[in-house]
Amino acid sequence: MTRTGTGTNQEAVRRHNLGTVLRHVHRTRSTSRASLTTQMALNRSTIGGLAATLEELGVVRRSTPVSSRAGAGRPSAGLEVVSRRAYVLAIDVGVDRVVVGRVGLGCDVEVKARVNLPPEPAPEHVADTIVGLVAAVRADASPESTLVGVGISVPGVVREADGMVVFAPNLGWHEVPFAAIVREKLDLDVDHVIANDADLGARAEHVRGAGVDVDHLIYVSGDVGVGAGVITAGRPLGGAGGFAGELGHMSYDPQGLRCHCGSRGCWETQVGAVAIARAIGAPTDVVATLDTVLDDFDGPLESLHEIARHVGHGLANVVNLLNPQVVVLGGYLASLHRLVEPEILAAVRAGVMSGPGSQLRVTRPALGGDAVLVGAAEAAFESLLADPVGMLGVPAGAVAR
Ligand SMILES: [Zn+2]
Repeated sequence: MTRTGTGTNQEAVRRHNLGTVLRHVHRTRSTSRASLTTQMALNRSTIGGLAATLEELGVVRRSTPVSSRAGAGRPSAGLEVVSRRAYVLAIDVGVDRVVVGRVGLGCDVEVKARVNLPPEPAPEHVADTIVGLVAAVRADASPESTLVGVGISVPGVVREADGMVVFAPNLGWHEVPFAAIVREKLDLDVDHVIANDADLGARAEHVRGAGVDVDHLIYVSGDVGVGAGVITAGRPLGGAGGFAGELGHMSYDPQGLRCHCGSRGCWETQVGAVAIARAIGAPTDVVATLDTVLDDFDGPLESLHEIARHVGHGLANVVNLLNPQVVVLGGYLASLHRLVEPEILAAVRAGVMSGPGSQLRVTRPALGGDAVLVGAAEAAFESLLADPVGMLGVPAGAVAR
């Protein structure tokens, strides 16, 4: 874009700053002007003007003044997010079900709806199911609340740039332009973004879950298969094509079982849902709901010890490679962690080097089963956070400020 003069430039900077302030308030849900002044390195009057414009847009409101950390000086004006002013549709496509949530600003999950899917569902069938769920969750949306985006999670390899699901083995999808299919069926005039489930889980746990205070996090998802989302130095690790994190297909035992990816002995053949179902003597047709099977499991925990060792050994490789502060185990791996945490940790400890090992915490998602859904919502809010005025209109009287 050619900038035509200082005025245009200043306006662009101001709109960018409005987005940054809104991003802070969206992330924390409640903050103070003093905190924003410090974090954005802008002066008080500039922050005051930006906050006033966001108030006029209706996305934030003043709240009880907040005392400074030291307790000294005047309390600073509080600012909190107005969750109901804008919302996104977050869509979590799993192997056996699809969940759609209406999620307000501040990532407030207002309502969710779920439908089970048949094995290897056709993309069009899933999209039609989504249309029905979207109608259900939008039915009682406030008329003052503006839809600002759609975020879709898929358990597979996704090319985010054009919304292509390159390969989702457990759905039976190859080269499915799923974002375009959903967009056409929904017929909603907002951005549609699509991403891998583990990448979105990592994003959500980093922004508002188990990794809020860290910049190096790995979210390992278990939903029939195993994948990972990696945040390093505060940013997602995508790789050249955005396909990084296919942890389940790390070569683990070259003499091992054939994997559905075509290779042999992938980690997933040892710690995937099928392997776990076999270990506890459950029929393999329960794999899509293995999390609930494990949550209800009252058999001998010893039957899971070998699986736990494989989980820990595999994680140790990844920890030695990427030196995360937190590894979050999501999906059925969270249920497994709840049952055999000491055995998993012992295997991790046996395999990690002392440096990365000393900084490591292994835990379950703080957002529970909503981690991926919240990640999809976060992705869908990007358009609004990039340019709140562009999405919601210029409030009256804002130009002069
Ligand atoms: Zn594989």
